[in-house]
Amino acid sequence: MKMTQFYLPTLKENPTEAEIVSHQLMLRAGLIRKLSAGIYTYLPLGMRVLRKIENIIREEMTRAGAQEVLMPSLQPAELWQESGRWEIMGPLMARLQDRKCHDYCIGPTHEEVVTDLVRHEVNSYKQLPLNLFQIQTKVRDEIRPRFGVMRSREFIMKDAYSFDKDQEGLDLSYQKMYDAYTRIFQRIGLRFRAVEADSGAIGGSSSHEFMVLADSGEDAIVFCDNCQYAANVERAESMVSLEDGCEELKELAKVSTPDVKTIDNMVEFFNLPAGKMIKTLAYVAGKTMIIALIRGCDEVNEVKLRNQLNAVDVRLASDEEVLERFSAPVGFLGPIGLKDIRIIADPLVMKIQNGVTGANQMDYHYRHVNPGRDFTVREEDIIDLRIVKEEDSCIHCNEPLKVARGIEVGHVFKLGTKYSEAMNATFLDENGKEQPLIMGCYGIGVTRIIGAAIEQNNDEHGIIWPMPIAPFHVVIIPIGKDEEVSRVAEQVYTDLDNRGIEVLLDDRNERPGVKFNDADLIGVPVRVVIGGRGLKENRIEVKFRGTGDELKVAVEEIVDFITDQVESQLV
Ligand code: ATP
Ligand code: MG
Repeated sequence: MKMTQFYLPTLKENPTEAEIVSHQLMLRAGLIRKLSAGIYTYLPLGMRVLRKIENIIREEMTRAGAQEVLMPSLQPAELWQESGRWEIMGPLMARLQDRKCHDYCIGPTHEEVVTDLVRHEVNSYKQLPLNLFQIQTKVRDEIRPRFGVMRSREFIMKDAYSFDKDQEGLDLSYQKMYDAYTRIFQRIGLRFRAVEADSGAIGGSSSHEFMVLADSGEDAIVFCDNCQYAANVERAESMVSLEDGCEELKELAKVSTPDVKTIDNMVEFFNLPAGKMIKTLAYVAGKTMIIALIRGCDEVNEVKLRNQLNAVDVRLASDEEVLERFSAPVGFLGPIGLKDIRIIADPLVMKIQNGVTGANQMDYHYRHVNPGRDFTVREEDIIDLRIVKEEDSCIHCNEPLKVARGIEVGHVFKLGTKYSEAMNATFLDENGKEQPLIMGCYGIGVTRIIGAAIEQNNDEHGIIWPMPIAPFHVVIIPIGKDEEVSRVAEQVYTDLDNRGIEVLLDDRNERPGVKFNDADLIGVPVRVVIGGRGLKENRIEVKFRGTGDELKVAVEEIVDFITDQVESQLV
């Protein structure tokens, strides 16, 4: 490709709307342009990267035995009503009506459509296992679209769905996808980690997320360097000591505590550590209010709470809701004397001795609070509610845990019979008995990968593409107007092209500095500079974008040399 014929609109300045470096660079390097909030056009340079990522995914999915299909974006409401998700999806789902006033959505995901497809096609165990995948556009009306293509409202996903006759089959299908994902992200050249993920109220370790490690990541992941434990913080657990204390239990006492509202205030006022405070938080799940108890030194993991409540969503109650329900403001709530409200408590709260909590009365707290004696919680509602913190002990090996940020680029999930039962997708087993299909689903954020790769690979000059997804392998920059320079540049360009190397020839009539800057900005891994002086010495200059290494290569060796370099980095 010749630069003069390539549509590559680069920007000099950082666009103000872009908060993180990948978003800035995708706009500056001319990969994308915004149409509307969270909705982007891919320009030719972006398209080249996108296609490479898609191809790696396609190859590995095919290698793992999945078959490609393409399902529609436009999906009838009936299917979603059958699965029960027409309501559950809420405002995330884009909805519309056709001219006959029938409801449709624009698919945010495809479990319903694929289940509908397969229930009409598959009826015998002999047709199983089956794994279908597609690379297709999804629409989700995200509350906060941001970071460019990382959290957009229209994006491309690879989604695969496996169908098996039994649990062992599902385990195998899942493992194949897990392995394929590992190969995909390795081939793309990302530093990533597979972590245990929350699998909603279904439970079990039947879900993993693939996280690209980056400080700008929206997810927190917890991992242990000593053993292999790694989990999304939403799910992570740590080892805690639940031994009984040995303090003498003192008599409960109400204390006047004007303006003592926060845990810090309480620590100061009572001169006790935050671990002695029983933080009492009111949450709303659906239309029901509940209480969560956690130690003052801990935070509530709302995903664990949501799973315990089997709720779609939970949120903290507002100040007004709290005041109305408890006749006491936020900061003065406590479990003592509460009636007709479900209390969920972290087990560590139940071990506190002579603790402190709110008295459900403005400006009053209780001291010498002893759970079990002064209030009770149902056994089944005493559950791990904490957010795991750095330095907590690993649940498997007791070593200190670490916390890092990650970008979720993939998610594998054992669905079981959730959709097949709801939608009556069955097959006849070896005994002629009707059984629901056992399903798994497997997603990759294809467009999100572009942003994630840039987050991990950039410097102050621009993007540094890993070779396997670079839009071009090599950029050739001729310097000056010397005819010999142009001739050699054209020759090297053609020879490399014939060898299957993707070359961008910067044939623009620009100063060398401008060409160098653009080459760095768009991140081409190998830069070849051809100048008159070098040619006189039979030398061509090669520079690697990643390492910054520079060297000179003889003219007659340049094509072999570059071909070797590029091919050795393509896996
Ligand atoms: P998130 O937690 O980031 O909202 P999700 O868990 O809802 O994502 P899945 O339904 O698991 O997403 O979708 C599969 C993959 O699609 C995700 O792992 C992610 O890489 C990608 N993805 C999801 N939402 C978006 C989005 N709004 N923009 C870009 N990619 C997305
Ligand atoms: Mg996910």
